[in-house]
Amino acid sequence: MSDGNQKRSAETKRNDRPGDRRRALRAMTAGAAGLVVGCSTTSENAGPAVQTRKRVQWRLASSFPRSLDTLYGASEELAVRVEALSDGAFTIRCYPGGDMIPALGVLDGVQSGTVQAGHTASYYYKGKNPALSFDAGVPFGLTARQQFAWLYHGGGLELMREVFADFNAVNFPGGSTGAQMGGWFRREVPGIADLKGLRMRIPGLGGEVMQRLGVECQVLGGGDIYPALERGAIDATEWVGPYDDAKLGFDKVARYYYAPGWWEPGPTLSFLVNRKAWEELPAEYQRIVEVAAAESSMKMTAKYDSLNPPALRQLIDGGTQVRTFSDEIMAAARDASFALYQEQAASDPGFRKVFEAWERFRQESTAWFAVSEGSFTRFAFQQG
Ligand code: CA
Repeated sequence: MSDGNQKRSAETKRNDRPGDRRRALRAMTAGAAGLVVGCSTTSENAGPAVQTRKRVQWRLASSFPRSLDTLYGASEELAVRVEALSDGAFTIRCYPGGDMIPALGVLDGVQSGTVQAGHTASYYYKGKNPALSFDAGVPFGLTARQQFAWLYHGGGLELMREVFADFNAVNFPGGSTGAQMGGWFRREVPGIADLKGLRMRIPGLGGEVMQRLGVECQVLGGGDIYPALERGAIDATEWVGPYDDAKLGFDKVARYYYAPGWWEPGPTLSFLVNRKAWEELPAEYQRIVEVAAAESSMKMTAKYDSLNPPALRQLIDGGTQVRTFSDEIMAAARDASFALYQEQAASDPGFRKVFEAWERFRQESTAWFAVSEGSFTRFAFQQG
């Protein structure tokens, strides 16, 4: 990408400046590289304007409600940057979960081409292919740092793209919440015995592991959790972390806030693009999507890491009691998690292929982080 492109802003009226005319001429001579050159008189400017860029309009379906500015915000962030980097020629209209297609129907929507793009969590679709879970994260899996290392530099993205090819989709990492909280409990759960018969809202593989520990798991949509917890239809729920959880008001109906969310140590979201829509993009726009997705991804994680600390402090000031899961629960949950993966790998070659590569990466990465980050955080994070 040229320096000129990097310096542009969305607000720039490119026909007003000599430098922009030079860029337009350069772009015209680059027609053989895929740029579409045409004339338009529909510009907001008074005279005819030379359009050097192909106009592309996409629809993007998010799995998340507009109220969750962290998760849904990543899509808008992507759209704003794509538009700015293409001088307004490539626009993406974002739809919150349920607006255009169901929140958990994003992969279907991208696969069928109903929307050109989506933003979602791949583990929602583990029923279609269990290996998709690794694109987002699994219980006792990778932290956000490890997950991005695996995806970008550890062969993970290539492996996951093979899986997504069956769904007519191309995937890009789309942010991480970082380690999630273990959720809200109406009573304390010191040991394994306290989990027996506990009714908890927890979806996905985390739910399957909890079930093996005796928990009665339920899957409820975001809006249904609070009333269920309030009237005692469930005893506990997990969601994300302090900033998102406070918005749903769980602290009003459950006193104990457990850490960590061992089932989601670094869950990563994904931008999905319909393969045909991707292949039809000019090469420059493909690069723009890659750059904007990577930036949006990084910013989401930064946003969580800056918004969660004050949100947790406010919850504690309001009476929330923070607890950590006991080693007894953590050890049993970890054993149950890896037993689950081994069983799945034994019966599903596609899962085994991803799992074995992922597990080699996880072991080596974990040995390194235990030495570096681990030795530091074990001491420094206890000092305050
Ligand atoms: Ca969660």
